[in-house]
Amino acid sequence: VTAPDDPARFDADVVVVGFGPTGATLAGLAARRGLRVVVLDRDIELYPLPRAVQCDHEVLRILQELGCADEILATTVLNDGLDLVAADRSVLQSFSVPAMAPTGWPTSVFFHQPTFETVLRRTVADLGAEVRLGHGVTALTQDDSGVTATVADGTTVRARYAVGCDGARSATRKVIGTALRDTGFEESWLVVDLVRHERSDHLPTRCLQVCDPARPHTLVPMPWPRFRFEFMLLPGEEPQDLMRPEVIEHLLRSWTDPAQAEIERAAVYTFHGLVASRWRNRRVLLAGDAAHQTPPFLGQGMCAGMRDAANLVWKLAAVIDDGSHQDLLDTYQQEREPHAQAVIDLAVGFGQLICMTDPEAAAARDTSFRAAPPSRAGRDDAPNLIPPLRAGPGIGPGGGDLSRQPRLGGVRLDDLIGSGFALCTADPLDPASPEAAWWAARGAVLDTRAHPELQPLLAGERACVIRPDRYVLGRGTVADLTDRTSAFLGGELSPLPAW
Ligand SMILES: Cc1cc2nc3c(=O)[nH]c(=O)nc-3n(C[C@H](O)[C@H](O)[C@H](O)COP(=O)(O)OP(=O)(O)OC[C@H]3O[C@@H](n4cnc5c(N)ncnc54)[C@H](O)[C@@H]3O)c2cc1C
Repeated sequence: VTAPDDPARFDADVVVVGFGPTGATLAGLAARRGLRVVVLDRDIELYPLPRAVQCDHEVLRILQELGCADEILATTVLNDGLDLVAADRSVLQSFSVPAMAPTGWPTSVFFHQPTFETVLRRTVADLGAEVRLGHGVTALTQDDSGVTATVADGTTVRARYAVGCDGARSATRKVIGTALRDTGFEESWLVVDLVRHERSDHLPTRCLQVCDPARPHTLVPMPWPRFRFEFMLLPGEEPQDLMRPEVIEHLLRSWTDPAQAEIERAAVYTFHGLVASRWRNRRVLLAGDAAHQTPPFLGQGMCAGMRDAANLVWKLAAVIDDGSHQDLLDTYQQEREPHAQAVIDLAVGFGQLICMTDPEAAAARDTSFRAAPPSRAGRDDAPNLIPPLRAGPGIGPGGGDLSRQPRLGGVRLDDLIGSGFALCTADPLDPASPEAAWWAARGAVLDTRAHPELQPLLAGERACVIRPDRYVLGRGTVADLTDRTSAFLGGELSPLPAW
């Protein structure tokens, strides 16, 4: 029996600060694993205007685990690629993406963020996370056994762990005591969202990046009836210069008759590429925009936050429920930071190409684009833009890629596996073996002889292990993979296991 003010009394296993897409995903995935979760957000209402517009197949797969992917997918439109066009609107390069990714979901879709988040939030509440809106966190303190979040109204939440998903201006970052590493990229863009009256308004059905040095701009076909324009601010321009209605109308007029739509929002955003140097201080962790921010040129900011949530949640569950050592949580930053940084570097590189305002440099760029061979992006052998996870304690030889997701008898692979690990093997397990005992307690076993659709997952090896975040831990023999998975969860992290 503990007294109410006993620091060992916990209101939750995990307190999540911030109910944006990252916090909601983390809370939902944690609740789905049976963890007790309290989410605190200072705002009462969902932010009514979209920021993110594009998400990829990996995000849809994460939503699959939450149980709302099909519902959200039904509100999206397929993104089949991007055309880079010159000032005269001739095509410089055309990038196509395959409609479906090997993960079993559309490679990329455009969505309306408030619709997306409404479904996500309802799903998270249905999964059992306790959501307290209008509860801004004013302090986070930690001791050896837990964390206490203090809310503006003076109430507190005591939990074993806290995750700050409190966005770009995160106060949790200060609690962790981390600096932000800056890529040096800083550009301001005017974002204009339209609600269209007519489908016959001649706006493109494909995403266009207009590489006009006089004013680089972007056109994004969102789900009907919305459409987004983004216009770069030129050197010396101030936000108020572009926010004037007559200026916005003039910018739109070269593409559409502004009378054919309502302007739902016009706002200037300054884009950065930033990564926090430290993502964990004992029982307090960071995720999403609180940990990293990217210019939106590849539409990857929210996607990265949801990847953070998927990477962190099963490690928290292993530490809280299954006795794994706390140091397992350090592999979260080890895995996610270089990945997030690599995606930011790609976005910054792409941004530097399209933000050129010097006519000579832009002409040289256009010449090289026109001379380049046609993009392979739409083909099955196209290189994946988003990198795999690097080798480390939780990623061994042959691992690091996001696993494919075939359907087995019509059922998606992840729905068969559930929220744990899975061993996929070409060799039947001896029921009396230690491996069989380990897997019976810790995860699913799938036999490629019974399910030939799984064969490509092995990539020529005898077996592979799929982690709960659906990344491949490694490929090799059952005995070796079982040892390594068990050692990883058991906390044999330092020095790194000799894979
Ligand atoms: C113009 C633009 C276009 C973009 N396009 C894309 C895109 O196409 N695809 C993509 O993937 N990403 C895109 N992004 C990025 C994406 O919007 C963000 O990366 C994403 O919203 C971050 O989610 P988050 O949950 O980490 O943070 P946020 O969405 O910022 O949520 C943080 C939450 O924390 C709450 N909070 C803050 N402080 C406290 C506190 N002290 N106590 C309690 N609650 C608190 C806030 O109220 C908020 O609800 C774009 C961004 C912009 C600006």
